[in-house]
Amino acid sequence: MTNQGLSISAALRKRFAEARRVVVLTGAGVSAESGVPTFRGGGQSAVWKGMPFDKISSAAMLERNLAEVWEWFDYRRGVIEKIEPNAAHRALARWQERFEDFTLVTQNVDGLHQAAGSRDVIELHGNLWRARCMSCRRKYDLRDRESEASRTYACADCGSYLRPDVVLFGEIVPGGAFERAAAAAARCELCFVVGTSALVYPAAGLPEVAKAAGAYVIEVNPERTPLSDLCDACVQGKAGEVLPLFC
Ligand code: NAD
Ligand code: ZN
Repeated sequence: MTNQGLSISAALRKRFAEARRVVVLTGAGVSAESGVPTFRGGGQSAVWKGMPFDKISSAAMLERNLAEVWEWFDYRRGVIEKIEPNAAHRALARWQERFEDFTLVTQNVDGLHQAAGSRDVIELHGNLWRARCMSCRRKYDLRDRESEASRTYACADCGSYLRPDVVLFGEIVPGGAFERAAAAAARCELCFVVGTSALVYPAAGLPEVAKAAGAYVIEVNPERTPLSDLCDACVQGKAGEVLPLFC
């Protein structure tokens, strides 16, 4: 493991230039420079009305108090509504044009990768801008007003309650999304882990899959994480400063 500081070594640049199959896993840190609070980085959203984020964002809370869960997600959407993608999101959107096989996997639910132009993003934890019916699973886009109104009442098809289309603590990541991500990790040559504390499984297992399959793994994070020792290189810095340095 080498620490690269805030410049990218010639060796890393060469790996980047020669790679054909690349996977990038992002976490809350990639949106930090846009002003979206991370959960564990001391951001204000770690606690909501005295409740820690893993209580309010949980499957148990959904059953106990759906209205309160919606209030928290409405608050988070309100925060994100005014926010723009940053240099890290934009760099990753450019990378998709550069590699033969490029897969962007995110744990974020803010939609900022798509706002920066990334396509086919694998969203492991869903999206804040979608609701889904708790019975028939019909999805609703919360950006359109009509859906916003109907979410307050019930599913237009079956009358059941709607919930945020986000994976909550105590819930499992939708199978299809994780399997596609794991398949990309297993075939990549270069794997980036950007801005994640790597504590939430199964997402945190993707770099392990890549590494076991022989990929070179690069972490981009201002701090060390439980994954740092597994990585071949750790670039300690902010995503928005580091990622644009690669090309
Ligand atoms: P986390 O809050 O646990 O960890 C954030 C990580 O980002 C930390 O390791 C921190 O050192 C690093 N970081 C902080 N600033 C950075 C920067 N400028 N550049 C690069 N790295 C930076 O986040 P997580 O690992 O993604 O896990 C938390 C869970 O909460 C995820 O499931 C995620 O879905 C959710 N979450 C999402 C958002 C969002 O959508 N923007 C925000 C908060 C939490
Ligand atoms: Zn329904």
